Amino acid sequence: MRYAVIADIHANLAAFSAVLTDIDNRGGTDEFWCLGDTVGYGPDPHECLEELRQRNHVSVTGNHDWGAIDRVSLADFNPDAAIACRWTAGRLTAEDRGYLESCPVTLTRGDFTLAHGSPREPIWEYVVSARVAAENFAYFSSSFCLVGHSHIPLVSRETDGEEVSFSPLTDNSHLALKGDRMIINPGSVGQPRDGDPRASYGVINTDDETFELYRVTYDISLTQKRMAERHLPEWLITRLGMGR
Ligand code: ZN
Repeated sequence: MRYAVIADIHANLAAFSAVLTDIDNRGGTDEFWCLGDTVGYGPDPHECLEELRQRNHVSVTGNHDWGAIDRVSLADFNPDAAIACRWTAGRLTAEDRGYLESCPVTLTRGDFTLAHGSPREPIWEYVVSARVAAENFAYFSSSFCLVGHSHIPLVSRETDGEEVSFSPLTDNSHLALKGDRMIINPGSVGQPRDGDPRASYGVINTDDETFELYRVTYDISLTQKRMAERHLPEWLITRLGMGR
């Protein structure tokens, strides 16, 4: 079976559409595994939710998803993110809100645990250091955990139940899913922050036991134009072009 792992779409429809096309071109997927933050920051929250909901998928919830439906306080967001969250809330339909309410905080598919931030603190914790990764291996029982939230493609490995390594993933990175337990972040579809502005996602093949990371070029200026039309904060528009 093939699973497309997508995270942090952030209402960026141009990026999401390019990723969907890329997935199709690579042979499609049996199920989408979405790691949350489908909305927030970007110009097309309703449209991205609709695209996702049309497909065979499972999704956990993220901090921006909860921010848009008032499940977390916007005081916990930075000012630009809070402005975008408030704007997002006004764009969602009742059906969108019901869908976001229904997404669990974590879920398990086969030997994979899915969480937005970390298995220990699924909504808010960033797994961006070997120390935090090492602590989090105790919080899931499957071999693998998939997380988003940092928008940085990364893999942490636990070797022999103790040593934890931590390394970035780049375009066409390939992981063999056997031996070590791992925490894997496929990067962000809609707002990459590793210096590469291309959309990022992963594909798991459970027959070959592999994970592949892919980067996809999309029309960044189109998303930026839509954000400007909606008067979303300037920095959120600028950062898309820098991948920061
Ligand atoms: Zn995010």
